[in-house]
Amino acid sequence: RAAAAPQYLTALNPEQREAVETLDGPVLVLAGAGTGKTRVLTSRIAHILSEGRARPSEILSVTFTNKAAREMKQRLGVMLGQTVEGMPWLGTFHAIAGRILRVHAELAQLKSNFTVLDVDDQIRLLKQLLQAEGIDDKRWPARMLAGLIDGWKNRGLTPSQVPSGEAAIFGNGKGGKLYTAYQERLKILNAADFGDLLLENIRIFREHPDVLRQYQHRFRYILVDEYQDTNVAQYLWLRLLAQAPSPLTSPRLRGEHSRPSADVLEEGRRGEATALARSASGEGQNLDISLEDSAPHPNPLPVNGERGQTPKNICCVGDDDQSIYGWRGAEVDNILRFDHDFPGAKVVRLERNYRSTGHILATASHLIAHNEGRLGKTLRTEDVDGEKVSVTGAWDSEEEARSIGEEIEQFQRAGEKLNEIAILVRASFQMREFEDRFVTLGLPYRVIGGPRFYERAEIRDALAYLRVINSPADDLAFERIVNVPKRGLGDATVQLLHDHARKRRVPLTEAARAIIETDELKPKPRGSLRDLLASFDRWSAQRDAIPHTELAEIVLDESGYTEMWQKDRSADAAGRLENLKELVRSMEEFENLHGFLEHISLVMDREGGGDEDAVSVMTLHSAKGLEFDNVFLPGWEEGLFPHQRALDEQGRAGLEEERRLAHVGITRARRRAKIYFATNRRIHGSWSTTIPSRFLDELPAEHVEILESKGGAGWGGAGGYGASRFDNIESFGSSYSTPGWQRAQSNRGRGGGFNESGARYGGGGRRKPLTIEGELIAKSTG
Ligand code: ATP
Ligand code: MG
Repeated sequence: RAAAAPQYLTALNPEQREAVETLDGPVLVLAGAGTGKTRVLTSRIAHILSEGRARPSEILSVTFTNKAAREMKQRLGVMLGQTVEGMPWLGTFHAIAGRILRVHAELAQLKSNFTVLDVDDQIRLLKQLLQAEGIDDKRWPARMLAGLIDGWKNRGLTPSQVPSGEAAIFGNGKGGKLYTAYQERLKILNAADFGDLLLENIRIFREHPDVLRQYQHRFRYILVDEYQDTNVAQYLWLRLLAQAPSPLTSPRLRGEHSRPSADVLEEGRRGEATALARSASGEGQNLDISLEDSAPHPNPLPVNGERGQTPKNICCVGDDDQSIYGWRGAEVDNILRFDHDFPGAKVVRLERNYRSTGHILATASHLIAHNEGRLGKTLRTEDVDGEKVSVTGAWDSEEEARSIGEEIEQFQRAGEKLNEIAILVRASFQMREFEDRFVTLGLPYRVIGGPRFYERAEIRDALAYLRVINSPADDLAFERIVNVPKRGLGDATVQLLHDHARKRRVPLTEAARAIIETDELKPKPRGSLRDLLASFDRWSAQRDAIPHTELAEIVLDESGYTEMWQKDRSADAAGRLENLKELVRSMEEFENLHGFLEHISLVMDREGGGDEDAVSVMTLHSAKGLEFDNVFLPGWEEGLFPHQRALDEQGRAGLEEERRLAHVGITRARRRAKIYFATNRRIHGSWSTTIPSRFLDELPAEHVEILESKGGAGWGGAGGYGASRFDNIESFGSSYSTPGWQRAQSNRGRGGGFNESGARYGGGGRRKPLTIEGELIAKSTG
């Protein structure tokens, strides 16, 4: 070997280097945020290649997002001083499994050009099946079934493997039958859903040992990032691929082969709580699974590529403190039992954090130490202490957004790049306020890992109603909601409307008015159409008589739209309802409906430019693995963060996952972490006084500085809101010497716990109800 080690090795510390250079056998890197785990993986690939241990096509490297895969590919090019030709197996679990499935589609009764269904297609298909079975989809929504099926697939369960008791909870015992019917339908349509990509892989590997063996031979090196967030299906898939081709040595693995379902069921049971978890477009998700490099491999498999026993060279990296997808079926246990699954594994721990300054790291470590269920680890940095983590109380969410906007502009003036600034929110509805603010300021921003607020399906639906009221000739809007919620006005009716409209050159609403006077439609759709038009007439008449926010509430209510989501039992329904409320709230800032819609068209028009220097806005969930110089963390309030759903859960698991999320948030920051909370937030149309997040109590005082919002009307302070006026919300501290939130805890203690359901935004168990309209607070205490 050459005396001078290549630069990609000398740029590592001894532990990292050990993880990179241990090429034979299983390796687990279990280490905290910013310790260079991802760097280790990238360097390891470089090392494997430059040592000639494998060709690019013999390396399987799994990342959590496609973005991460692209980045890894690019860094690899830098390390090796050239672009890596043919590095085809670098991507997300879904992308890679999709690619394998295309090669062997016929083994899953598919053609290699099968379609990957998106969530909407999936729902539509399930609705048809519910209809065919005569199941009322109001009582048993298709979305709920989609959620169940998704949960089963995340756990690696085919229809015959779903525990019957569990399948029975849907549709009066018909859940299992529907799952079977759904899978059959998919085959007829030559389609697969996201979950199938992995599940069909697993099935093929199990039923066709020869195929499995080929891949076991091919993938001489397997690397996995963010291993703590793998779900059961991903785990089973990896474990199959990571076995030595033959013979099967571990009794555990042999057992799995002879009794495939028993093993899975056992694992499945633990994941029961997450059976309802959706991987649809809910909050905080980064289902980044475009199958961009999923074309069939030109040279599918080495026919005679036996090279003796392939060692199980699997290297997984992860951090139990960053496991944040439990609600979607991820199993942190996967990482904790790695050395059990891969005997003889070398476990490497990394302790030096290269990302964050001293204060940031200390704050994050102190916070996560409040979790009980963790391995525990030390993290140190040799960086300067830097700026303390700041905690700023704002009067309300609008001021929070204004304040953050101002700070960002200051950063900008000081020469900071917008690309190095991120706002990480807990719930997607929080983005709205920031997006609006940035549009007003003309500050470029991009939303990562999901649609922008006003582009979300539920927001577009609600806007469509308002657009029709504002302009009855808005055909696109009318068509969007004519049958949402379902009112029996399906494709045939819409087609008829279109024909009429085209013939007479009138808008759809006008065509509809003409049609209901004829007998072209059957009585039932005609009745619904008449009702819908009557509703629009009523709403239009109210338009100038009542505030536009009230009108919006009435429309969402009377149209049945809100109810549609209320009845929806899928996990993302609650987030959508939150978004709808936020929409109504956002309208307050405009004088009338027209002004509001005009603003929306401006917001929608903005292209989130690709390479433009822009602030990133995203959920904490999508921020995993990323880093920024400056990170803003707004909305640290009880009920929002930790989220109410986690607080309502039994036991500590939900709360601990929220705390890990907070930890992920803080550790994204290199130089500045800025936490915010608002003392008032508008929930359910009325102002609620909030309780600062318990996580604030858990921050170490010596590493944190308490600031007051620049907006002036800060919490309990200079804005003229004297303590006396807030007699009943004493918890926010009337003096700065005792940070307000430190006292909030005692209030929580008195309140008797926050796990009671119905305790919204921390309001449930308190001495006095605090959900009082803004004006009334003064009266009741004055
Ligand atoms: P996370 O848990 O958040 O995913 P990670 O453990 O994957 O973090 P990396 O993203 O690999 O950490 O590394 C964090 C930062 O530290 C990166 O900017 C990386 O380039 C840098 N870094 C890692 N190791 C070293 C090193 N030995 N010398 C200098 N910089 C390093
Ligand atoms: Mg990483």
